[in-house]
Amino acid sequence: LRMVSAAPLDDEPVSDEELRPQDLQGFIGQPRLKAQLELFLAAAQKRQVAPDHILLAGPPGLGKTTLAMIVAHELEVPIRITSGPAVQHAGDLASILSSLEAGEVLFIDEIHRLPRAAEELLYIAMEDFRVDVMVGKGPGASSIPLTLPRFTVIGATTREGMLPSPLRARFGFTAHLDFYPPEELEKLLERSARVLDIRITDQACVQLAQRSRGTPRIANRLLRRVRDWAIVHDLQEVGPDDVKAALSLYQIDSEGLDRLDLAVLNAIVRSFNGGPVGLNNLAAMVGEEAETVETVCEPYLVREGFLVRTPKGRVATKKAWEHIGLQPPDDVMK
Ligand code: ADP
Repeated sequence: LRMVSAAPLDDEPVSDEELRPQDLQGFIGQPRLKAQLELFLAAAQKRQVAPDHILLAGPPGLGKTTLAMIVAHELEVPIRITSGPAVQHAGDLASILSSLEAGEVLFIDEIHRLPRAAEELLYIAMEDFRVDVMVGKGPGASSIPLTLPRFTVIGATTREGMLPSPLRARFGFTAHLDFYPPEELEKLLERSARVLDIRITDQACVQLAQRSRGTPRIANRLLRRVRDWAIVHDLQEVGPDDVKAALSLYQIDSEGLDRLDLAVLNAIVRSFNGGPVGLNNLAAMVGEEAETVETVCEPYLVREGFLVRTPKGRVATKKAWEHIGLQPPDDVMK
């Protein structure tokens, strides 16, 4: 018996793992970034030191966590995983830092969300490989300086601009991950289909790639929904029409826009007559946090030419008006 999830587009973190490539070779696309990273890691290995700290910036689902795990795998060192919101007090971070082994990778997801005091502790640890551990409480408390072995921090962030510059300056290598072009997503889908043992035609991968919003995580998720369709319909092989039928059931847009993307476009066009509209007004209108609209939704809409950021606010383009089925006014932005 298969349970059909009521929330088909929710994250599936557990099954994310089976599709994660383990080495750089298996990491699809982003050729320049891969070449840079390869050189950077090879140099560190040759010098037999832990490499400099690495910052990975970009929207969710583009492979930051995957890359961090690949780096640890390539260096053959253990990896410790935490995140900004998981560190509630500087002490939490101090105890992680003081237990790191030499050469270990410390991955901090959403590093821009570390509490202030933890941030300060972190950049001293990154620079000088030492941490002050507080012992006791109240007037009798004292701090004991502890020397740490060399280790590598890999920070991931969707908002590089929110990192204070002293912290940002401590990363020797910063990589910006960008949305994947359809050809790369096709390759990724072919690989995932092999791993999941799904028979799918090239044309079906083309259709899926187009609807994946430039994002590997979404491509993999849609592939699983298509697999459900194939199982229920007893298909030997998934073709392009199966993809279209399965995904229209889930209301996936032909351009890959999701519910929030469409809500944003509709709000700008219908409620603000195409804009300009400020971020906070827009976020209130669609009932989301401004940060989510800005970091998850807008980068893709801007890149695909649906939205333009101007000093006065966000403006919908001709393409946006047409996409939601409305006649654009004559003076609309192209
Ligand atoms: P992020 O940390 O940026 O939110 P993840 O690293 O968790 O993204 O990636 C989401 C999923 O997409 C992972 O399960 C991984 O399998 C897949 N993925 C991401 N980037 C790639 C890539 N370049 N090649 C193959 N799979 C990828």
